[in-house]
Amino acid sequence: MNVLSNKQVKTRKPHCCAYCGRKIEAGAIARVWVCEDGGDIQRNCAHFFCDMAATFIKEFEQDEYIDSNIFYDDIHEYYTDNLADVFTPEEWAKYTPEEQCGIILGCENVSPQSDILI
Ligand SMILES: [Zn+2]
Repeated sequence: MNVLSNKQVKTRKPHCCAYCGRKIEAGAIARVWVCEDGGDIQRNCAHFFCDMAATFIKEFEQDEYIDSNIFYDDIHEYYTDNLADVFTPEEWAKYTPEEQCGIILGCENVSPQSDILI
């Protein structure tokens, strides 16, 4: 698989997140990447925080091909290992996966990159 382009954008219309599978609202900051695999061109879109977490959190083990179930498992495992005494399961469950990724990134002191295009 060859990544042809990878950039941060502000979405003009809603998309579906490649990691969590949930809706990315129009006007949100998202990561868009295009890859070529055996002649097929694929365009993927992801929530900013989902993509950041998948890229920068070492406990997150994403393959070349994104599997939302593994992504959810990784988030849950991180919560169990690091945040279970900060949030009760009920409190944690109120956040969307994207918000949970944002919290995890904050815990790891990962600051967003500066190439946001608006
Ligand atoms: Zn997402």
